[in-house]
Amino acid sequence: MSIVRYFTKPSAPESPSSANNKRRLDQTVDKVDKRSKNQRYDDSKCQRKFLPKWIDQWPWLQHRQDKIFCQVCLKYPSIAKPSGKRNAFFDGCDIFRVESIRSHESSRPHLECFAYFCRDDVTQVIGSPNELSSPNINATPIGLAMRKLNDDQLRRYSNLFSTVFMLAKYGKPMSDMPMQCALLRKVGAEIGDNYQNDKSASAFLTHIAAVIKKNNIHEIQDAAFLSVLADGSADVSIIEQENIFVRYVSKGVPVTTMVSIEAPAHSHALGVYEAIKDGLNSVNLNMENMTSRDKPGPKLVCANFDGASVMQGRKSGVVAHILEEAPYVIPVHCILLTS
Ligand SMILES: [Zn+2]
Repeated sequence: MSIVRYFTKPSAPESPSSANNKRRLDQTVDKVDKRSKNQRYDDSKCQRKFLPKWIDQWPWLQHRQDKIFCQVCLKYPSIAKPSGKRNAFFDGCDIFRVESIRSHESSRPHLECFAYFCRDDVTQVIGSPNELSSPNINATPIGLAMRKLNDDQLRRYSNLFSTVFMLAKYGKPMSDMPMQCALLRKVGAEIGDNYQNDKSASAFLTHIAAVIKKNNIHEIQDAAFLSVLADGSADVSIIEQENIFVRYVSKGVPVTTMVSIEAPAHSHALGVYEAIKDGLNSVNLNMENMTSRDKPGPKLVCANFDGASVMQGRKSGVVAHILEEAPYVIPVHCILLTS
C-alpha cells in the first residue's frame, strides 16, 4: 500500500442507484444532442418543392395553393375518402416527396378511384380521341390527365391486369405477383415500375371480379328461364359455405355460372334457403321477379341439389321452401350424384 493511499480516505464503492442516475443522465444528454443535431439538419436542408416534371410521370397530379392533389381521387369523393377517412391527396398534400406520391399511387382508395376512372365511358368524359384537341377538353384538369394517360400506360396496365387475372384463374396466391412481374420484365414486357405487389394485385382482382360480375348480370338478366344449383362445403376455417350457381341458355348455348358463395346462418333448410336467396340477390335475381310473369327478368324453372334431406325434403327441405313460393319449379336430384 502506498503512503498516499494510507492517508487518504478510501472512496466508497458506487451504489447501484447512483449508477442508474448516471446512466439516465447520459441518456438525457444523448437525446438533447440528437435533437439539436436534427434541428441543425432541418435548418440547413434545402426547402422541398413541387417539381413540374412529376406531372409527366404522374399525370393525375395537380399542383395548386402550394399543395398536391390527385385529380382522379377528387373525381370520386365517396371512394377516395370512405367513411371520412383521411386521404392526403384529396385534401391537399404539402409533403413534396416522391415517396408520398408513390405511396398514394399504390394506396387502395387511389387504385379503386383509378379503376372507376378507367371504367367510366371515356368518350363521355373527354369525348372521342379526335376531340381531344378541343380547347374545352384541354381546359378541364381531368381531360388533361386523361390525355397524358397515353398508350404506353394503358399497355402497362393491360399487362398487369392480365397477370393478376392469370394468377386468380389458376388459384395462385397474389404474393406471386412480384415474381411474375420479374419474369415479365425479363421477357421484355412493358409493366412500368408500379403496382407490382400483392396489395395492388388484390385491388386489381377486386375490379376484375366486379367487371366479370357486371357482365354476368347482364347475360343472366337477358335469359328467359334459369335453374338454380347449390351445394355446401366447409372452407379452410371449417365454416360451412353454400356455393350457388345458375344455369341458363345464352345465344343458344347452355351456360352454368357461379353467382356467389354464401355462409348460411345455420345448416337447417331455412338457413340454406336464405343463403341461396342472398346469392341470387347478388346478381339482381329475387324470388318475386323470378316467379311473376308480370315482372322483368328470367323465370326460375328448376332447382338442382344433391340428395340430402335438408335440400330435397318435400316437407321442410330447401325444395319445400322453393315450392312454397314457386310451385311449378322442377326439383332435380343432381345427376352426377345419383349415378
Ligand atoms: Zn388518387
